[in-house]
Amino acid sequence: MENCIFCKIVKGEIPCDKVYEDEKVLAFLDIHPIKPGHTLVIPKKHFENFVSIDEEYLLPMIQAAKKIVPAIIKSVRATAFNFTTANGAEAGQSVFHLHFHIIPRFSKSELKDWPEMEGEQMTRIQIAEDIRQIYHKLFT
Ligand code: 5GP
Ligand code: ZN
Repeated sequence: MENCIFCKIVKGEIPCDKVYEDEKVLAFLDIHPIKPGHTLVIPKKHFENFVSIDEEYLLPMIQAAKKIVPAIIKSVRATAFNFTTANGAEAGQSVFHLHFHIIPRFSKSELKDWPEMEGEQMTRIQIAEDIRQIYHKLFT
């Protein structure tokens, strides 16, 4: 992808603070960290999101993330971490090259609680049924 900032980082056209690299995965520090050690894990090939990525790249990404986390935690003396990914603009994705955020955490008070959605249990029962049916149509 020509104008993708993360593809440019992979090609070495833009510098990054690299923390890990293998054949298919690169991890580097976020340029605007939420916390010290805030790291992004990306596939070296361009995929827009968690759904469109080939498993051939997804599995190495997850394996790499799992191995990097203890090093990040130890280096910044964190006690916990968030592992998140935004998919789509409405979810907060601003770079449309899939990436996992690893965000070290130090104190519970740093976190805002996730807003609870209002909803009846019946709604949940219906949504779960819809998801199962759609999944079944797509994958079985
Ligand atoms: P998103 O908003 O898509 O979930 O996350 C994109 C992240 O990429 C942001 O946290 C942002 O700070 C980071 N970012 C954007 N451009 C660059 C860059 O050129 N270098 C690095 N290291 N991080 C970047
Ligand atoms: Zn890209």
